[in-house]
Amino acid sequence: MKILKIDHLGIAVKSIDQGKNFWTDVLGLHMEGTETVEAQKVTTAFLPVGESEVELLESTAPDGPVAKYIEKKGEGIQHVAFRVENIEEALAELKEKGIQLIDQQPRMGAGGAKIAFLHPKATNGVLVELCER
Ligand code: ZN
Repeated sequence: MKILKIDHLGIAVKSIDQGKNFWTDVLGLHMEGTETVEAQKVTTAFLPVGESEVELLESTAPDGPVAKYIEKKGEGIQHVAFRVENIEEALAELKEKGIQLIDQQPRMGAGGAKIAFLHPKATNGVLVELCER
């Protein structure tokens, strides 16, 4: 598997509208608009930082994964996303190595990326996303 870079850090916020202020007003990052991914019950906002991005995540429903995360742990870094050259190949390799996956197959994420999550049990408690764009 070839990891190209840290694609983005996913940060769970209760509200993008309020949560964005530190990132935009204080750090001066530029928010490129929002996108809702209904299948994941989440609205995302991407803020480019050099080669990577900050992804703010706001739940669209109380039972969505981001809402559940905030309920358990509060706002904060929810996942780390690595960009891979070929996500199907990466998943096949991880399966072969016995790594527990949340997504057996890639699915569509924000911005038309192919994404898949690994299980935190297999990654020292870090929710790891692979993405291919
Ligand atoms: Zn992400």
